[in-house]
Amino acid sequence: MYIVLKDNTLPCDIKKLTDLIEAKNLGTIVIEDLGKVKVGVLGNKKSISKDEIESMEFVEKIVDITKPYKFASRDFKVEDTIIDVNGVKIGGDNFVLMAGPCSVENEEMIFEIAKEVKRFGGQFLRGGAFKPRTSPYDFQGLGEEGLKYMRAAADKYDLQVVTEVMDSKDIELIAKYSDVMQVGARNMQNFSLLKELGSCGKPVLLKRGMSATIRDLLMAAEYIIAFGNREVILCERGIRTFETMTRNTVDINGIALIKEKSHLPIIIDASHGTGRRSLVVPVTLASIIAGADGAMVEVHSNPNCAISDGEQSLNFEEFEELCKKLKKVLVLRKELKA
Ligand code: PEP
Ligand code: MN
Repeated sequence: MYIVLKDNTLPCDIKKLTDLIEAKNLGTIVIEDLGKVKVGVLGNKKSISKDEIESMEFVEKIVDITKPYKFASRDFKVEDTIIDVNGVKIGGDNFVLMAGPCSVENEEMIFEIAKEVKRFGGQFLRGGAFKPRTSPYDFQGLGEEGLKYMRAAADKYDLQVVTEVMDSKDIELIAKYSDVMQVGARNMQNFSLLKELGSCGKPVLLKRGMSATIRDLLMAAEYIIAFGNREVILCERGIRTFETMTRNTVDINGIALIKEKSHLPIIIDASHGTGRRSLVVPVTLASIIAGADGAMVEVHSNPNCAISDGEQSLNFEEFEELCKKLKKVLVLRKELKA
């Protein structure tokens, strides 16, 4: 449920309303949408009296949200959410490129890759320092050492950092180095982690679980919002299907549908989505036409020697090709929208 306020409602009246709701042990979320102030009620609305709220002279109307993903939905907020990461905007008419290795392997490689990411117009450096590997015997990441290298490389080349947090106990440490907190596919429904990220103070990039429906993804985003953090970036990274020739199947339907159903930005990760280097460029471009607000790609100076995910990582020439084509496709998308 949300409450639409009349135009020019005073801040003290907004506070009167949020205090009233919060006194019932419910949360509030105050946004501006289509020029209106809206106050969302988080929690079981049965404990508040609609009559009491409606009788407040600055209240225009009360609207029930029937969708299970309430505050992630366009039913609550019609306008696109734009997330500002130190001046880099994600969502709306903006397009963001996040690139880097699967894992931070050493200091030299992350600096070398960061330089290329910047050179070809990327805004974010990605890279795992805490890696969710299928085998416990595989490289698990450099941990804090990797975070330090990534932060230093990003700072040198004026990039933002996005890196995965696998465990609630690491949130504080990772938030010290990272600008955006990534939740990996394997943790999309780790509800205790999602709840904790509600108060981490950083935007969250939430990857779709490999067996998660679109509704599951939006419900996971709802957890983060309900626990206090409205800055959620969704990520389509492919789902498991019966197909075995690719690692996953990118759900392009999902990208287009999420743009209809949710105001949150969504980015495409065709590296994990396809698992094949040769498919990363075409599938990224297709996802942009479908409406993706950004792309994440794995890039490595020497993919054949990468410690993880080399087979889906672009080398620098391929990355350059992607970036050139990206620009053309963004122009085409604008034309198609007009
Ligand atoms: C990653 O981006 O490093 C990663 C592990 O991806 P996913 O969680 O989508 O598998
Ligand atoms: Mn990877």
